[in-house]
Amino acid sequence: MVPGVPEVVPRSRSLGALYSAMRCCTRCALASGRTQVVVGSGPVRAEVLLIGEAPGAQEDETGRPFAGRAGSYLDRLLEQAGLERSRVHITNIVACRPPRNRAPKPTEIRAHGPWVDEQVRLIRPKLIVTLGRAALTYFLPKAVIGAVHGQLQKVMWQDRELAILPTYHPTAAFRRPALRTLLEADFGRIRRVLRRLAGRSVRRPAASAASRRARTSVGTKSTRPRSGGPGSRTGKSKGREGSGRPSRGRTR
Ligand code: URA
Repeated sequence: MVPGVPEVVPRSRSLGALYSAMRCCTRCALASGRTQVVVGSGPVRAEVLLIGEAPGAQEDETGRPFAGRAGSYLDRLLEQAGLERSRVHITNIVACRPPRNRAPKPTEIRAHGPWVDEQVRLIRPKLIVTLGRAALTYFLPKAVIGAVHGQLQKVMWQDRELAILPTYHPTAAFRRPALRTLLEADFGRIRRVLRRLAGRSVRRPAASAASRRARTSVGTKSTRPRSGGPGSRTGKSKGREGSGRPSRGRTR
């Protein structure tokens, strides 16, 4: 198989440069069926990064993530949670529409992974909200959405600790209306979690040098090698958080 381009995703100096490079990506077969690459949308330095699954028809047409019905529901969830869409960054675990909106394949997620990692590195979000199983298991391959949704997860990822709040994919609630309550509750935790994280970072400098060394030495290696190995949790889950997105007969 001819390797896609770029074979190695380069480090970008800015999110704009990254998104320009992403727009020419042919790293997987999804490139042949897309109208355009759907890059992330939102402020360059957003506190919250939401990661969905893959563009659908409207996203493929407009180039904007969560532009369709799922996007309207996502807007409502954000609004109810006291967050403005214009202040969060929204992206997907793959940036090209899969044929007939099927779930992205592991090979496609692996091919797109370095773009996701670069977005995380450049945006430096305080909190990542994963929407559905694909985004959750990218960071935590063994996690089960029904068990962890609404619970803050800490993951060492390429020498940084990420705070992840998993929840269901908004479209999951279209098929299982009972999930609305869970989604709303999970979104309702975002601001509280941000406050808690802010409180923690204020206390951090008080820790001794030895305890800081011990903490940073836990899993400072990437817990998911580029080949797609599992991420490692660096702390216990706190509070309720979770995922899942049934669509066309599948739960994501
Ligand atoms: N639109 C997106 O951009 N991503 C999804 O996961 C679903 C709809």
